[in-house]
Amino acid sequence: MTTQPLPDHPSVTPPDGSRPQDRRWNSALIASACVLAVMVVAMYLESRIWWCKCGEATIWISDVWTSHCSQHLLDPYSFSHFSHGLIFAGLFGFIGARRRWPVPWQLFTSITTAAAWEVAENSPFVINRYRTVTMSLDYLGDSIINAVGDVLCCILGFFVARKLGTWKTIALFAIIEIVMLVTMKDNLTLNVIMLISPIQAIKNWQTAGHLPPA
Ligand SMILES: [Zn+2]
Repeated sequence: MTTQPLPDHPSVTPPDGSRPQDRRWNSALIASACVLAVMVVAMYLESRIWWCKCGEATIWISDVWTSHCSQHLLDPYSFSHFSHGLIFAGLFGFIGARRRWPVPWQLFTSITTAAAWEVAENSPFVINRYRTVTMSLDYLGDSIINAVGDVLCCILGFFVARKLGTWKTIALFAIIEIVMLVTMKDNLTLNVIMLISPIQAIKNWQTAGHLPPA
């Protein structure tokens, strides 16, 4: 099967020789940096800590069943945020091809959506919901550095999807979902299901072996 790269729009070079595409990237990247700064301030105002309270400089945490998860820069859930980037690139690329929506602003919209989710995810309402209905029993909210890592993973996913094209991106998304399901009993699909409409049987399966005896 042949793969088609996600569509872009060739820009018309004006008589003065400047490249509107470059200016577009500059504007979108500056705007994206501002959005990230707003996210950091908003999370700080939500009383999120900057880094895991253990204070260790570890960048990657592999065990999701520790209090270090979601507190350092990267952990297995980073792959879900990478998948967000895959989805945004596909969805916004699809819309952009029909509405002449430039790629830099598709990326900006992806970053804004990811950053807004990080702020919402760390609101008391969502934190409490996670703790009661999902496997994240001790979830106390992300650290600010973890939220930054999540958005960076989303950005990486966006560019990887644009490089791979539609079918390879769908295959990569499926592989990530399956590997996460097998290795950590959680993935983006289950996360969405459990957050919106929790199923007790899934929660029991996810938490089996990780709960103290009643
Ligand atoms: Zn830690």
